[in-house]
Amino acid sequence: SGYHRVLEENRKLYNQVQDLKGSIRVYCRVRPFLSERSSYVSTVEHIEDGNITISTPSKYGKGCKSFTFNKVFGQSVTQAEVFSDMQPLIRSVLDGYNVCIFAYGQTGSGKTYTMVGPKDLTEKNQGVNYRALGDLFVLAEKRKDNFRYDVAVQMIEIYNEQVRDLLVIDGSNKRLEIHNSSQTGLNVPDASLMPVSSTSDVIDLMNLGQRNRAVGATALNDRSSRSHRYPLFSFSFFNNIWSRNILCSQTKTCLITCSCLTVHVQGKDLTSGTILRGCMHLVDLAGSERVNKSEVTGGRLKEAQHINKSLSALGDVIASLAQKNTHVPYRNSKLTQLLQDSLGGQAKTLMFVHISPEPDALAETISTLKFAERVATVELGAAQVNK
Ligand code: ADP
Repeated sequence: SGYHRVLEENRKLYNQVQDLKGSIRVYCRVRPFLSERSSYVSTVEHIEDGNITISTPSKYGKGCKSFTFNKVFGQSVTQAEVFSDMQPLIRSVLDGYNVCIFAYGQTGSGKTYTMVGPKDLTEKNQGVNYRALGDLFVLAEKRKDNFRYDVAVQMIEIYNEQVRDLLVIDGSNKRLEIHNSSQTGLNVPDASLMPVSSTSDVIDLMNLGQRNRAVGATALNDRSSRSHRYPLFSFSFFNNIWSRNILCSQTKTCLITCSCLTVHVQGKDLTSGTILRGCMHLVDLAGSERVNKSEVTGGRLKEAQHINKSLSALGDVIASLAQKNTHVPYRNSKLTQLLQDSLGGQAKTLMFVHISPEPDALAETISTLKFAERVATVELGAAQVNK
């Protein structure tokens, strides 16, 4: 049947290109210097295959530290090259697997660039989200003689430990619960589920999600903090794209812990009638740096504390999975509950870890790479097709 042929095709592809069944896959990407005339010397000493060596000068002399990942992308690697071997991952969503792609790294290290793209977005510099969605619909179309695919999306955010539906039309702000349901992929079953049939449908919904986020952010904004200037993230749309910027002025935006776009796919094999359900989570995490108490006050401080707590909880979950502990503390934050099925579950999970090459980012760079190295040791359960 068409289903078996596709599975066989994939098995070959995975053997050739990538087998995501072992552990969480980690790709490391180094951002280029932001100014061409930068006088900085990069902290990245050497990149070869999956290895990256960071120079760690100290008062005792020059030191080095090496890290190993599935792949390391240097400063000059293009968006197309970063995406080039991800097709099997996208394909497997259509084959009934759950896939999770998320970006990690300090603010300004290139997470948005990888997932979405730069501000002056063109087809050439589109990020992973676009390419993944584009491929998904192209592939579904290619298979239309053998399969009928129904695609629907959800979009939620975690803000101050509350899970919020971003695709509500009436502007209501219902709080949602997270469930562990690796079989259906619907781990936030009460979030709106919107049918889509093209990449542009998804982008329209992302626009709606953005509007809802802005409404929520204004309503929740702490008035007393408006007159101050803070280094903040903002989430905005330009060219219909979901992106994150750093603002250095008063703003009505708020610091969210994470937002997640989930694409649910249900495929029916037209010959055998077999139904396959796959999903793809595209997760946008807050910057990994810990916000210092002295940098923010008021509502921003509360938000930053929630983010710090969530990222610590993520670190604890990763540490405990890496040590193969029987108890994994998923329940300590909404973020870890949301990612539960993707971390140590049966999903195929890919983390892009980002670092900045500047010497003043060295401490964050080392802590990011150490975290990523631990993530890379986390073994996933064998990925299973959801039938
Ligand atoms: P983050 O999302 O981690 O806060 P951004 O993606 O916003 O970081 O990146 C910070 C800045 O660096 C942006 O201006 C972005 O366009 C630029 N940048 C990041 N990665 C790259 C890259 N690989 N090539 C060119 N510019 C990049």
